[in-house]
Amino acid sequence: MSEQIDALKALIDKASRITVFTGAGISTESGIPDFRGPNGIWKKITPIEFQDFVASEDVRRKSWAGRFKGESKIDGAEPNKGHLAVARLVSTGKTQQIITQNIDGLHQKAGVPDAQVIELHGNAQYAKCLDCGLRHEFEEFRAAFLMEDIVPVCRECGGIVKSATISFGQPMPEEAMERAQNATMDCDMFLVMGSSLQVVPAAYFPQIASQNGAKLVIINNEETGLDDLADLVINEPIGVTLEAAVGLD
Ligand code: NAD
Ligand code: ZN
Repeated sequence: MSEQIDALKALIDKASRITVFTGAGISTESGIPDFRGPNGIWKKITPIEFQDFVASEDVRRKSWAGRFKGESKIDGAEPNKGHLAVARLVSTGKTQQIITQNIDGLHQKAGVPDAQVIELHGNAQYAKCLDCGLRHEFEEFRAAFLMEDIVPVCRECGGIVKSATISFGQPMPEEAMERAQNATMDCDMFLVMGSSLQVVPAAYFPQIASQNGAKLVIINNEETGLDDLADLVINEPIGVTLEAAVGLD
């Protein structure tokens, strides 16, 4: 382990523009389960597809029940060592952009400015109208849903409202994809943490960075499909690894 930490430190020292790319694995140490790791939530539930959500009020009701009656692990979660170390990479100027597949807002909660976090899969802390895009807070809907079984619709246009995350089958957000592409091309090191790299198009970014000449580093508990491309792979927990290599903010 210490040799790998030294190798990581050396790569970070040498780099001047490190684009960080995070997946659900960086947030498991904050108590939020990942999808595909050994304790992933997909071992227990099946995700709702976008088309089904749009097509059926029953599916929407089921989805809202999950939010309002289930326990969201994201509400109340706090950033962990991994997020704090990433915040330090940003505050010291080594990192300009973080591309994240996460929807938990923990990079921002760790102190990274909104403008430096690119959320590829949206954000689970608020909702949006699928027709006019208007933002809604969950609290607007909670009581009516729980007490009168009213499935949320837009207060402006009556359209379908959905949490502001990108579901399977839903188009990727164009602006975030463009920013992520730019951050991928404009770096000399691309640091992947806590992603199984199985979700595309997100998983294309590390490939593109590497082909463009950036050093590729992957920190993940288990193997990923891109390990062969990487300049350094560390199969250890993110928190202790980054704390040792970067320190915490
Ligand atoms: P994933 O679940 O497919 O993979 C996570 C990877 O992280 C696994 O390989 C796992 O072994 C590893 N891992 C878990 N904890 C770790 C730790 N402490 N240290 C090192 N490695 C660790 O995640 P993904 O690639 O991000 O894809 C999942 C999709 O699910 C994303 O698109 C994301 O939108 C969504 N998701 C988000 C959250 C969140 O916001 N926190 C949680 C679950 C799922
Ligand atoms: Zn609307």
